[in-house]
Amino acid sequence: MSAATPAYDDGNIFAKILRGEIPSDRLIDDEVAIAIMDIMPESKGHCLLIPKTASRNLLDASDETLARVMPVVAKLARAAKAAFSADGVRVAQFNEEAGGQTVFHLHFHIVPVYEGVPLKRHAMGEVPAETLKEHAEAIRAELAKL
Ligand code: AMP
Repeated sequence: MSAATPAYDDGNIFAKILRGEIPSDRLIDDEVAIAIMDIMPESKGHCLLIPKTASRNLLDASDETLARVMPVVAKLARAAKAAFSADGVRVAQFNEEAGGQTVFHLHFHIVPVYEGVPLKRHAMGEVPAETLKEHAEAIRAELAKL
């Protein structure tokens, strides 16, 4: 028997970032979503697309939110790949603790993949803020071309 999806809790860190209570360096900020660098990247250029509409994850998201957000996910994936000449991009999305989710506001991981370079472990090991800033600028420059 499957458990019901718990209610959305707006005390999560991405909700605080969306409300501006925690400052963020945004790659995208449009009517649908924001994008930020992941502070514990699995690869160079790992970023997150966070819809503005509140849902805990895919399991309680509305069809409208999902339909609106996927084109932005694709745009960010193209820009992140181009910014670092990656060989591929992994798009990941985790649902509930058992599914690997650690922040309970829907988000998509955009993870550039480089041939021969293993991905780092999920949500482990921060990189310096200055490095993330440089990576953010490189992705923004590619977004501006799309
Ligand atoms: P998930 O496990 O799918 O919920 O992913 C949450 C992600 O958010 C992890 O990859 C973390 O490294 C990342 N993360 C946690 N806190 C922050 C933050 N303040 N800014 C950016 N990324 C974060």
